[in-house]
Amino acid sequence: MTFLFNSDAKRGAIFAEAFARELPDIAFSMDPKSVEADGVRYLITWTVPDDLARYRNLEILFSIGAGIDQFRIDAVPASVKVVRMVEDGIIKMMQEYVTLAVLALHRDLPTYLDQQRRRTWQTIAPVQASERRIGVLGLGMLGSAVLERLQPFGFPLSGWSRSPREIDGIRCLSGRDGLDTLLATTDILVCLLPLTDATRGFLNAELFAGLPAGAALVHVGRGAQLDHQALVDALDTCHLSGAVVDVTEPEPLPADHAFWNHPKILLTPHIASVTQAETAAAAVIGNIKRHQTGLDPIGLIDRCRGY
Ligand code: NAP
Repeated sequence: MTFLFNSDAKRGAIFAEAFARELPDIAFSMDPKSVEADGVRYLITWTVPDDLARYRNLEILFSIGAGIDQFRIDAVPASVKVVRMVEDGIIKMMQEYVTLAVLALHRDLPTYLDQQRRRTWQTIAPVQASERRIGVLGLGMLGSAVLERLQPFGFPLSGWSRSPREIDGIRCLSGRDGLDTLLATTDILVCLLPLTDATRGFLNAELFAGLPAGAALVHVGRGAQLDHQALVDALDTCHLSGAVVDVTEPEPLPADHAFWNHPKILLTPHIASVTQAETAAAAVIGNIKRHQTGLDPIGLIDRCRGY
């Protein structure tokens, strides 16, 4: 029985060590060419390999990342469980990044950076945290963790999900009406939705129009959720005041793209959160142990929902 690791060698070495320690009965391979295909029961990868059908006895296809939108899931046999990465390292990094982004927008950092470049010394009237309403799209592993980390700052916090949720200290909304309410009462909107057919192009002109004038955006979901032109228009007409964008479509952006130099956009190259090898290996090993005792792995994808 083999676990095939199809990602970078540095993280692979850490996985190999953890597997040798925790699951010595499972052979660990990083070499698809030399592996005996029929023995491969578990595969971890970022994209689905073209020759997936070789692995006739595959039981679990693990994503090395938190999303599975990069998988062509229809090409994965229905008998194979598809599992996204649920691990503490990703959660902690996303908590850090969104806290950084929310505080940067709350304290007008894009404007001050622009003023610095223009040698302008000018203060902006500060807004108290209790007056700055944060709305998070997506109340899953990451959305709920981010809201938890933001609680001590005193922002009024809301979140939105497909199905109704209850989280202490958070106003939880769901469904179409819930979205309209969330948007109308949000000053900083954070997108932490998975990319599905329902969320592709979700951050568009209509959605921005539902936000109060002067609102701002933190986009850490997936690039294809954001209509770039709609964001630029909303910023240029001053309907939105700023944006922190970590994910774009395509990645990287072309050299002449409007986001590079836009004074109201802080752009980062999809680094909000990265799988951490030690904690990821522990999570995958835990999931294989669960699977071996008949339990569903944590992070199992519901193929009908698409996430
Ligand atoms: P998750 O646990 O699956 O949670 C997804 C949340 O989104 C759930 O609350 C879900 O609602 C909600 N949702 C999904 N589709 C919806 C829809 N159509 N309408 C309303 N709500 C919807 O996912 P996660 O682990 O928090 O991760 C979220 C995403 O973050 C990932 O898919 C990935 O794209 C992105 N991400 C980005 C980075 C980065 O570095 N930028 C890193 C990691 C992850 P229910 O609660 O009703 O299911």
